[in-house]
Amino acid sequence: MPETASIHDTIILGSGPAGLTAAIYAARSSCCPLLIAGGQPGGQLTTTTKVDNFPGFAEGVDGPELMQQMEAQARRFGTRFVDGVVTRAELSETPFKLWIDDRLLRCRTLIIATGASPRMLNLPNEWELYGRGVSVCATCDGFFYRDKQVVVVGGGDTAMEEASFLTRFASKVTVVHRRDSLRASAALEQRVRENEKIEFRWKTVVTAILGDSQQGVHGVRLRHLGSTTEEEFRCDGLFVAIGHSPNTDLFKNQLEMDKDGYLVTHNGTETSLPGIFAAGDVQDPHFRQAITAAGTGCMAALQAERYLESHTG
Ligand code: NAP
Repeated sequence: MPETASIHDTIILGSGPAGLTAAIYAARSSCCPLLIAGGQPGGQLTTTTKVDNFPGFAEGVDGPELMQQMEAQARRFGTRFVDGVVTRAELSETPFKLWIDDRLLRCRTLIIATGASPRMLNLPNEWELYGRGVSVCATCDGFFYRDKQVVVVGGGDTAMEEASFLTRFASKVTVVHRRDSLRASAALEQRVRENEKIEFRWKTVVTAILGDSQQGVHGVRLRHLGSTTEEEFRCDGLFVAIGHSPNTDLFKNQLEMDKDGYLVTHNGTETSLPGIFAAGDVQDPHFRQAITAAGTGCMAALQAERYLESHTG
């Protein structure tokens, strides 16, 4: 039977901890899941170094290694993987319809685990300089800043981890934060404050990135809040670590969302449409941990299984 004619029991969107855990559970319960990996296979953990708080790894585990293990586990139970990004979704009736470009896929239940993407500063030349001095991933790009000076923007856990990691390479790391206290956990804050290579610019924002696509970044313009004057600050790289936005554009006007675009869930992982479940960061503005994503992925698979049992003969 051609693929366009078949209707899958369960399609899972996303291959981070939520999507892969949903796949492991759905495959073991014979829901024969098809998993569409998305634009960043393995999700955000593929851009981290050591994950120290995922239970079961007393000495910590590398993010990419953890995701490879989850994928292997999902494959072992029969999950079918499709590389690609869903470009269109039609959810108004069952079977639900999804397209990867012009390839149509249909399903009885859908688990959305599309995660969240890094927020940017929205400065005019930010994308032009992306990959040429502007980065959102110290693990990916830190190596290029050996003996250089870098700026990290943000005051959360991610910014502190990025700053700390960058000191392996950079000669100096300056954290620019818009308030005078951090949002990061006490443990990370202490680690960063004890690092002599890291300095802080409090109550300060980046108002411009200095550089061009040929030469890359050579500085930023900083403004101390409460002052109107700006300062040119020399640096070779700018790491943006100011949080994430949920990847929900596909589902606008189709599924209920909160004001920030996170999918709203009820009774565990049910979305506003029966048969569609959401797991992980796409529905979680609060916890956003690998383990909570995995937990909701498990819940979504169990709820999809129950839905299939009660809606198919
Ligand atoms: P976050 O906690 O939302 O922090 C974002 C930071 O960026 C905040 O300090 C915020 O400032 C600042 N910010 C937001 N928009 C900004 C803008 N337009 N300009 C300048 N600054 C801006 O995000 P996160 O650090 O990515 O962490 C997300 C979640 O993952 C959290 O729950 C965190 O605990 C978790 N996480 C955990 C670990 C770990 O446990 N090892 C590691 C990484 C992430 P304000 O403080 O003023 O709001």
